[in-house]
Amino acid sequence: MKYYSLNHNAPKVSFQEAVIQGLATDKGLYFPETISPLAPAFFETIENLSNEEIAFEAIQQFVGDEIPEATLKQIIAETLCFDFPVVEVEKGIYSLELFHGPTMAFKDVGARFMSRCLGYFNKDNKDSKNTVLVATSGDTGGAVASGFLGVTGVEVIILYPSGKVSDIQERQLTTLGQNIKALEVDGVFDDCQDMVKKAFLDESLKHKNLTSANSINIARWLPQMFYFFFAYKALKKQNKPLVFSCPSGNFGNICAGIIAKKMGLPVEHFVAATNVNDTVPRFLENGVYDPKPSIATISNAMDVGNPSNFIRIQEMYHNDLEQFKKDFSSFTFSDEETIAAMKTIYNADGYIAEPHGAVGYLGLKKELQNHPNAIGIFLETAHPIKFLDTVEPTLNVKLPIPTQIESVLGKDKVSVKIKTYEELKAFLA
Ligand SMILES: *Cc1c(COP(=O)(O)O)cnc(C)c1O
Repeated sequence: MKYYSLNHNAPKVSFQEAVIQGLATDKGLYFPETISPLAPAFFETIENLSNEEIAFEAIQQFVGDEIPEATLKQIIAETLCFDFPVVEVEKGIYSLELFHGPTMAFKDVGARFMSRCLGYFNKDNKDSKNTVLVATSGDTGGAVASGFLGVTGVEVIILYPSGKVSDIQERQLTTLGQNIKALEVDGVFDDCQDMVKKAFLDESLKHKNLTSANSINIARWLPQMFYFFFAYKALKKQNKPLVFSCPSGNFGNICAGIIAKKMGLPVEHFVAATNVNDTVPRFLENGVYDPKPSIATISNAMDVGNPSNFIRIQEMYHNDLEQFKKDFSSFTFSDEETIAAMKTIYNADGYIAEPHGAVGYLGLKKELQNHPNAIGIFLETAHPIKFLDTVEPTLNVKLPIPTQIESVLGKDKVSVKIKTYEELKAFLA
């Protein structure tokens, strides 16, 4: 499979090159040259397949022969080492729980897949390492740290804003050691992000083979399609149209769902539910794409003013807004509405949703009014424990600490404090 740059000013590359580079030389996102539908028989018999078999069928065309079949199957098995339950929270409304992985966020899937692909591409490459550089406001860093721990030939450097991530998140970033290094930046998330961007453009760092591990990287983004297939498998026997709602920030998750639909997955409609960072809902209203600086909310993993993957979605709809609106809606919700939804969900059936999942639920409820025969699925993207400062007082509950979290709580933080880009460069050198 070849990948082209969405800025159309860079050479086409292989899967391997796209994974290693992250972004094209013209700063465009990579996009697969073709997306082929899977055989009807695959969907007809999906209930007989394991999650690993489904994932292999789904991803194979995007990897081609660049990773041998047996190795790809092994990578998938290591990626999908946890469950993806579909839980009914009220009649006809399901939560697709993506938080049962090692860091309890859906980003575990992409981080584990990408790390193992890079590890494979580096297997014979003893002297020149790849350096994954990532800025995090919380969840990405933990998933990347855990996913890349011990991967051959890859060094991971995570920049996070000092004092601006939760205690659990900080421990997930700073306690693993080995090939994972944490830089504690005296600043806010945007300062971390700016330094990372600067490093990618810095010619004097070319030899460090820097790559990114957020959803602009195809190896982090594409495997996120897997769990849309898993949800279909779980709900297929009800024989009803499906509506998916993704709580959206950088729009990587929903973009992976749309790829699954392009491959033949029967999905009636997608909803991208956002918090007050509403660039996409406004675009669907008035056709003007007008990004704004991000606003802080209680669903902070979605505090994104200019969603990086939206351009990939537009590509899939050939920038045809009317066609796009037939398959896709996007709604914005305030923190007050999110809090109220968490209470509604809890009071109805005792289900504990964290703020991101609750935004997904709200988007789903709104869209389902247009689909009376459909059943709805919202993605629950993180475990409530990761947002306990909001969840516990809102629902008046005390959350037990899961074993994954327990294991990092006892460990000591190791980080290097930096303030300027020069200090980052010195650290890299
Ligand atoms: C990253 C994240 C999101 C947003 O996902 P995108 O793919 O960027 O739209 C939503 N919820 C949680 C908990 C996240 O960590």
